[in-house]
This record gives sequence, C-alpha cells and structure tokens, in this order.
Amino acid sequence: MNFNNKTIIITGGANGIGAACADAFYEAGANVCVLDLSNENNQKNNPRWLYQNVDVSKSVDVEKAIKVVYEKFGDIHFLVNNAGIQRYGSVVDTSEEEWDQVMNINLKSYFLCSKYVIPFMKKNSDGAIINLSSVQAFVTQENVAAYAASKTAILGLTRSIAIDFAPHIRCIAVCPGTIDTPMLQSAIALSPNPHEVMKECEDMHLLHRIGQPEEVASLVKFLCSDEAAFITGESIRMDGGLGIKIQGSKK
Ligand code: NAD
Repeated sequence: MNFNNKTIIITGGANGIGAACADAFYEAGANVCVLDLSNENNQKNNPRWLYQNVDVSKSVDVEKAIKVVYEKFGDIHFLVNNAGIQRYGSVVDTSEEEWDQVMNINLKSYFLCSKYVIPFMKKNSDGAIINLSSVQAFVTQENVAAYAASKTAILGLTRSIAIDFAPHIRCIAVCPGTIDTPMLQSAIALSPNPHEVMKECEDMHLLHRIGQPEEVASLVKFLCSDEAAFITGESIRMDGGLGIKIQGSKK
C-alpha cells in the first residue's frame, strides 16, 4: 500500500500500537505526525516526520498542534486516535480523579482531535479516522470500570463521526485483544507473578498467543487504504478469538 503524499496524525505514536502505526505509515511513504507526551519514537529527523509534545486531552494544545500539521504539510488525510491509559478498579474503588483522567485521555482526546482535524480533512475527499477501542468494549474483565466504559463509548463516537461526515470521511473503530506493548508490560508488572499472568493472557485467546503492535498497524493501514473504501462506522475486533467461546463447550 502506498501512502505517498498522504498525511497522517497518530496520537500516542511514541510507544506500542501508535509507534507501530507511525512506523508502518512512514515506511509506506506518508507524512507522519506524532502527538504524544513522550518523545520515544522521535528518532526520524527528516521532512516526512513531525513529532509534537502534546497532551491530547487539552483542547487548546490539540487545536494548536493540528494547525501546525496543516501548515507544514498543507493537507491532513488520516487521523489515528490511539493515545490511551489503563487504570484498574470497580466503580467503588475508582476515584473521581482516575475516572476523569481515563475519560479525558481515552475518550475526550478522540473527540478533540476529530473536532479539530475534520475541518481540514473535509478539504479532501478520502479522509479516514481510526479510533483505537478494545475488545473490552464487548467482553470485559473485572476491575476495569473506567477503561471499559471509555472503550465502549468510543464505538458510539465512531458511529456518530461516520454518520455526520459521510461520504467524505470514513470512521472505524479497531478493537484489539491483548497486544504486547508497554501498556501491557506495565500492567503485568503489577502482578507478583508476571510470567503466570502472561501465560493466562496468552491462553485467553483462541490462538493461544497475544498480538503484536505491527499486526494492529497492518489493520489500521488497510482501513485507511482504498481497499477499505466501503467500510465505515464499523467496529473491527482483532483479538485472536478472545471471548467468543462459550465456557464448558467441548471440541
Ligand atoms: P502504550 O501505553 O504502550 O502507549 C500509549 C501512548 O499514549 C504512550 O506513548 C503515551 O505516552 C501516550 N499518551 C498517553 N496519554 C497521553 C496524552 N494525554 N497525550 C498524548 N499522549 C498520551 O499503549 P498501547 O498498548 O500501545 O495502547 C494504544 C491504544 O490501544 C490505547 O488506546 C489502548 O487502550 C488500546 N488497546 C491496547 C491494548 C493492549 O493490549 N496493549 C488492547 C486493546 C486496546
């Protein structure tokens, strides 16, 4: 797939899935703009790569950063809303502050980036917004109340954007199962037995493994391409079959 002369903004593109997306689109010829608080994936000092240190949950900063992208590249074709955090707790254990933090980064930032990018995208006729949700929008583990709520809300936001800006802008949610990223590694490190937790994670998936960030990046690339021109408003699970098996069934 060739993305020459296309410009993509990826939030949270310094690590994990976002970094894999940034690398994949860069390899495919796109102008890549990473908005992140961390500058870990900022090694490409060249005219097709723009890193901006931005908290994507802050309206003023997002608006400014997107203008900078437009001024540099003259066009914005794709947005990958990917920045996210995980916090653990039931509704009783989750503090109001944690709830707000999760909602601000996992959901409000998707709203803000879309809000400020879409007016630039409408100048093109083939824009796409990909929203990173999670399999937890469909099946949910214990003690992730805020995270699961944020990831489920993203599906509604995805449909609204798809409806309001068709036919020029497509919007699709990608819902991964467990993916090997810094987010996963730091969650696993909280356990007294990280090896056991990793084995459990692998066994939860029908395919008996977790996914790689590059696999998600391939799906995101496909969804932005002309090959996926008839897909919009949809939520696509990429989860190795996690959660589809009824417990107790025999082979
Ligand atoms: P990660 O923690 O490895 O990377 C997330 C990136 O987002 C980091 O670079 C971080 O600095 C950035 N970020 C966080 N808050 C930010 C903010 N306010 N402003 C700007 N940047 C910010 O996470 P990941 O595992 O790659 O996850 C990426 C997305 O995929 C998230 O939305 C996550 O919920 C989703 N997801 C991940 C998994 C998984 O198993 N890793 C599964 C399903 C969905």
